[in-house]
Amino acid sequence: MDLNFTPEEEAFRERVVRFLKDKLPARLSDKVRNSLHLTRDDIVEWHAILNGQGWLANHWPEQYGGPGWSAVQKFIFENECALACAPRILPFGVNMLGPVLIKYGSEAQKRYWLPRILNGDDWWCQGYSEPGSGSDLASVRTTAVRGIDAQGEHYIVNGQKTWTTLGQHANMIFCLVRTASDVRQQEGISFLLVDMNTPGVEVRPIITLDGDHEINEVFFTDVRVPAANLVGEENKGWTYAKYLLTYERTNIAGVGFSVAALERLKAVAAKRTRNGRPLAEDASFAARVARVEIDLENMKTTNLRVIAAVAGGGVPGAESSMLKIRGTEIRQEITSLMRRAMGPYAQPFIEEALHEGYDQPPVGLGDAASAAALYFNNRKLSIFGGSNEIQKNIISKMILGL
Ligand SMILES: Cc1cc2nc3c(=O)[nH]c(=O)nc-3n(C[C@H](O)[C@H](O)[C@H](O)COP(=O)(O)OP(=O)(O)OC[C@H]3O[C@@H](n4cnc5c(N)ncnc54)[C@H](O)[C@@H]3O)c2cc1C
Repeated sequence: MDLNFTPEEEAFRERVVRFLKDKLPARLSDKVRNSLHLTRDDIVEWHAILNGQGWLANHWPEQYGGPGWSAVQKFIFENECALACAPRILPFGVNMLGPVLIKYGSEAQKRYWLPRILNGDDWWCQGYSEPGSGSDLASVRTTAVRGIDAQGEHYIVNGQKTWTTLGQHANMIFCLVRTASDVRQQEGISFLLVDMNTPGVEVRPIITLDGDHEINEVFFTDVRVPAANLVGEENKGWTYAKYLLTYERTNIAGVGFSVAALERLKAVAAKRTRNGRPLAEDASFAARVARVEIDLENMKTTNLRVIAAVAGGGVPGAESSMLKIRGTEIRQEITSLMRRAMGPYAQPFIEEALHEGYDQPPVGLGDAASAAALYFNNRKLSIFGGSNEIQKNIISKMILGL
């Protein structure tokens, strides 16, 4: 297998690098480089820039506004964006709901919702998990009861979702809801699009260990949803949910992110000294860095395989679970090594240091302020998108048939 880029791919890479140099605002890349919090406006701004170039929904078919890239081009784009410290594309609309609508949505849904995702008209969030229904997702208990009245066919939704990432910014949520209870759990779930401005929807914040407001609880009390917002068939939502999750997992692996973070770690290790010598020359530290670099190189190949499978019309299966596990382990290891590299400077956690305009203490270590917060924040990676233990169960079932 030849893993080198062809001259055409190399030319594409240069085009991406030029675009990032010209169009990525320094204010945004500075924030990403220094691990500062991105606001809603920051993310909307970056989406609009990518959309203006036709590069936002780079996994979508051309007929729906995708750029028609090959698997390798997508890989190059994601890597270069990460290396340039571009904000990540918010996955909920573009990478999760988009592919589901394209595969299972009605023509009317595609015509209405897909352009709105591209144009940033809606901010989507994901309403899968509930208290007691995380790993055991098929047990969701939020109900949607179908009815009809003078205003038309509709569902009345009652229940609670939790861990809803960035739900505080969202105006739309895609939900797994129970539409039948007298059947096998998986056969009574539907996939519903809910306007969060409807009366009866309430969003409450959950503050995480790193002091951040990233996740929420969402409550539904007699929320009326037009029946036209059902995706696909009633009670077939489990199939769509699983399809979406494979995209989510592949995305969480974050190869590009790790490539950029590893470069940064190495730069810090070359500067920081321990016992009078650069940390990079410390045998045990260097061995851990080398180990994670080898794992990352292997991951890149697996990532290309998964993207190629999707490009060929396939659906990522067990490979996306493999990517999720290994990708998140690598990301966690890099943040752990960065925290170690900072030594005592990583110790104090200063929430304000993650916001724009904070005057960093003069420790001479650009990454110190965020090292602990990033370490804590990245613990989530092995939990969300289906925990890594659950991914191992999936792999053993799909590959080993256990
Ligand atoms: C930061 C963050 C953001 C999130 N964002 C969203 C979001 O936007 N939308 C959304 O819907 N959800 C979101 N989630 C929820 C996430 O998908 C769930 O947390 C995850 O699926 C685990 O479910 P749980 O929290 O209920 O844990 P549980 O299912 O209770 O699991 C607890 C532990 O038991 C282990 N375990 C459970 N069952 C098994 C088994 N059969 N075999 C082996 N081990 C097992 C798990 O691996 C885990 O370690 C988010 C979670 C986090 C932490």
